[in-house]
Amino acid sequence: MFCSVILRGAVRQTDSLYTYRIPDELSDSVTAGSLVSVPFGNGNAERCGVVVDLSDSFDGDESKLKDIKSLMSSLPVLNSDQIELISRISERFNCTRGDAVELMVPSCVVNHKDPMEVYVELVSEKDALAVLESEKLRAISHINILEYLLKRGKCTRKEIMASLSCSASQIKALENKGLVRLVKEVSSEELSAVNDVKEAPSGKFTEEYDLSGEQRNAVEKILEGIEEKKDKTYLLFGITGSGKTEVYLNIAKKVISEGGSVIYMVPEISLTPQTINWIKGRLGDNVAVLHSRLTDKQRYEQWNNIRTGKARVVVGPRSGVFAPAVDLRLIILDEEHDGSYKAESHPRYSARDIARMRAKITGCSVVLGSATPSVESFYAANAGAFQLLELKERARQDARLPEIVPVDMKEQIKLGSGDMLSIPLRQAMSVAFSENKQVILLLNRRGFSRTLICGDCGEPVTCRNCSVPMTLHNNRRSGTQSLICHYCGYTFPSYEARCSVCNGTHFTKAGFGTQQLEEFLHNLFPHEKVLRMDQDSTMTPGAHKEIIDKFANKEASILIGTQMIAKGLDFPDVTVVGVLGADLMLASSSFKASERAFQLITQAAGRAGRGDAPGKVFIQSYRPEQPLFQYACSQNYRAFYEQEIEYRQKLKLPPFKAVGEIVLSLPDETLLSQRANELAKYLKDFLGYQDSRYQFEVYGPIPCVIYELRGKYRMSFVIKAVNKSAINSVFKRLITDFDHTKYPMSFDNDPQDG
Ligand code: ADP
Ligand code: ZN
Repeated sequence: MFCSVILRGAVRQTDSLYTYRIPDELSDSVTAGSLVSVPFGNGNAERCGVVVDLSDSFDGDESKLKDIKSLMSSLPVLNSDQIELISRISERFNCTRGDAVELMVPSCVVNHKDPMEVYVELVSEKDALAVLESEKLRAISHINILEYLLKRGKCTRKEIMASLSCSASQIKALENKGLVRLVKEVSSEELSAVNDVKEAPSGKFTEEYDLSGEQRNAVEKILEGIEEKKDKTYLLFGITGSGKTEVYLNIAKKVISEGGSVIYMVPEISLTPQTINWIKGRLGDNVAVLHSRLTDKQRYEQWNNIRTGKARVVVGPRSGVFAPAVDLRLIILDEEHDGSYKAESHPRYSARDIARMRAKITGCSVVLGSATPSVESFYAANAGAFQLLELKERARQDARLPEIVPVDMKEQIKLGSGDMLSIPLRQAMSVAFSENKQVILLLNRRGFSRTLICGDCGEPVTCRNCSVPMTLHNNRRSGTQSLICHYCGYTFPSYEARCSVCNGTHFTKAGFGTQQLEEFLHNLFPHEKVLRMDQDSTMTPGAHKEIIDKFANKEASILIGTQMIAKGLDFPDVTVVGVLGADLMLASSSFKASERAFQLITQAAGRAGRGDAPGKVFIQSYRPEQPLFQYACSQNYRAFYEQEIEYRQKLKLPPFKAVGEIVLSLPDETLLSQRANELAKYLKDFLGYQDSRYQFEVYGPIPCVIYELRGKYRMSFVIKAVNKSAINSVFKRLITDFDHTKYPMSFDNDPQDG
């Protein structure tokens, strides 16, 4: 027997299908999906790979084939639908098939050794009894062993040796006499599952509601699709508090009651013990949870329960989409717009896209849920590619919306408040502290991205070609500052800036970071404790949860956070929420900026004041009259969408055209600009020759918003084209034509941050 193997984590040079011979002793156990260890290359270094295909014959020189060295896991690690997914992932996300295997076979699986135990059993009870009665056996230990086995049946050699204080050679002697048999098996201990969340779900977690009419309609429609097995995708668009979770739980329950499996993804930040308990309380014990706080052993156990079908529901963040679910019938993405569903390191996959790929292969249904869907998803729903299901009513009649207070920062600065905290917000904070309540201050994630804002009218400086805000860059060599457009690369020195609305020349630099804000708060409220949550304070796994737990236990009265905490705003004692730097969110160079700002503010507005005390949300802006803020305050997603889709169409941005980003990074700045120019020339020449139906456009080189990162300087190129596969074809070209060691490039066909 022969098999084809893909090496796990293969680089481009080793990303082939390699044929190996299956030695006789493994021919019964190796199948498609098996994890194997193989000798590779001239030195026969041991590599780990996955079998994707078996065959009886090999048309080539058999004598050159190597044997598989060993089987690393007694059960296959991939299902057939996952094997099919490998090349689709590699195609779509510009990675090797080996990278795709690595995504689906996490390291906890590779590092796990099936613990084999030696078991001892009687060859025949009758013979054993006869031998004992005949008194032929002299050694007392031999008699003891047989009696032990007669009483207990098959047991491990370890146990016999420990209980009877005998040796392995004494057992071996009985084997030689043909009385007992030694067998190697996976230890039964391994099959018992340990769990990190052990508390019994309390009543409140298991409560079931009578569904509202809207909820019932959504559940029925989705169940019809699941029944048909025709890879349908639903967009469950429901305002905050409309009870989307209840819809997920009802459909999931139905699927598992019929023997199918469900993948239920939530943003990592929402994987709190409360959420997990709630889901377990409702769906029973066959729920596996994957999150970043698991040890390797726990993670393996969860993964193994999914693979064996013991767990029927997989709850996890974006990596959950790769789970080896058996008979997959439903994939749920809660908060489908959330940025965490997109991987920001190689391979830059999107869990939403992978969910749809799995649906195409298995016929399962996909449910995307959100109060503020991504513009792309809502567009797809309007175009009929997804089925739109709407929840317009709040599930609980007593739920109250907080009061929204737009604050004009131009006035506040004139009144002497400075640009961080306005006077009304400070006053509300003082009141909250005096009542033992808590405050959350949201500050745009890209606090380091700066722009110039007109001191007279509040308008940011915009690009003359693209009408998007320009980003301020320090030129370290000359000590001057430039404004750069991150779409077209248009650049001019900052002293030449003119306001495009009022022609003003007085500008304020907008943008302060979370650390500055923290210092400021220490001075302003010296008796209040502050917690900060941003990319720096959450580098380690579990750091998120620790901060959230501390705040929930009221160890601090102020939480400063970037949009990562928007979903975590569910603290009953929070009565005041401040949205700071709202303009900066919009001034970020990403085409997703408005969308992100809208989502963040809507979420804040929907969640503050969840307890008995009503909440207040302050939105600090230089232009509080902007429609986007009005739409967010009134939770008017459709109005926002109409405005946004028009803008995207005008600028030919997704979903109208696909955007791709190439980042070139090198430790030497001079070399970087030289090679960036070579790349630019190549791209412009090459794309200039392409058929116009691909609608290629190329921009760059443009310094990245974060120009210097981990000792490297970074320049980017942006390509637009009719669709993602056109973008991918350019990436492929660059991969083959440029030496990766000289031109280290990363590729992204779905950039989120720009
Ligand atoms: P969403 O996820 O849409 O923001 P949730 O699922 O968190 O909303 O539901 C909001 C609240 O309404 C929760 O407290 C939930 O328990 C409650 N709820 C959901 N469905 C119903 C229902 N049919 N009847 C009463 N309360 C409900
Ligand atoms: Zn421009």
